[in-house]
Amino acid sequence: MTHADFPAALLHRLRHARHIAVLTGAGISAESGIPTFRHAQTGLWSQYDPLELATPQAFQRNPRLVWDWYAWRRQLVAHAQPNAGHTALVAIQRHAPQFTLITQNVDGLHQQAGSTAVIELHGNIRRIKRADDGVIVTAWTETEGELVRCPQTGSLLRPDVVWFGEMLPPDALDAARVAAQTCDVFFSIGTSGLVEPAGSLPRLALHAGATLVVVNPEATFAPHNDVYLLQGAAGVLLPQLVAAVWGD
Ligand code: NAD
Repeated sequence: MTHADFPAALLHRLRHARHIAVLTGAGISAESGIPTFRHAQTGLWSQYDPLELATPQAFQRNPRLVWDWYAWRRQLVAHAQPNAGHTALVAIQRHAPQFTLITQNVDGLHQQAGSTAVIELHGNIRRIKRADDGVIVTAWTETEGELVRCPQTGSLLRPDVVWFGEMLPPDALDAARVAAQTCDVFFSIGTSGLVEPAGSLPRLALHAGATLVVVNPEATFAPHNDVYLLQGAAGVLLPQLVAAVWGD
């Protein structure tokens, strides 16, 4: 897609938007080398279904297996760099009078790129908490094959992420819903929309009168009057869109 391919009405809408809200999913980090859940896992982990490891039941059944899987993902994240898609959202934040960034991602790459006040709906894989009371823990020791425990209380440790079947942090979800209902443009970027309640935010925005922009290489949204479907990779399309709207 070149500048000329973006609909003029979309460029106008973005240039004059008072509040732009953005929801991102695993797809925006794919170009940073972090696999989405629905992509085949590699090597050691190819035999496991990630959707079944990211549950409280999996942790109850085999806490060490779940710990090891997250330790592997934490390492991927630690070595990853934000990509041009993340950077383009920092530019939009700079240009928009009001901007809200909501992410389902747990990788912290938006913050690393320079985005501020990010609403993390599903937590952050870089933080570790106690399984019983949720207190964040910053130091622990690991012995291969043994359960990883809090040095103070002996409680099992786990990543500070929201697993399938768990509640989202209520403040984050409230803030995301308010943004969806009050913005004039809502972006849905790199998400399949299959995980609720985040999956409903684009429709919430649309029903409240926002223009919806969907950025995804796959067709994840049915054509609709107030929806712009930008089919392609976020790291390619978003910088082009920013250049077309604001000239940088
Ligand atoms: P998903 O795996 O269900 O969907 C990813 C979407 O991204 C797909 O629709 C795919 O077509 C699209 N996509 C792939 N490459 C893209 C690109 N370059 N640009 C734009 N879009 C691209 O992801 P989801 O909807 O976020 O839901 C999965 C859940 O898994 C979330 O709750 C999330 O917390 C978690 N998750 C997070 C990470 C991460 O933090 N990076 C990684 C994997 C899974």
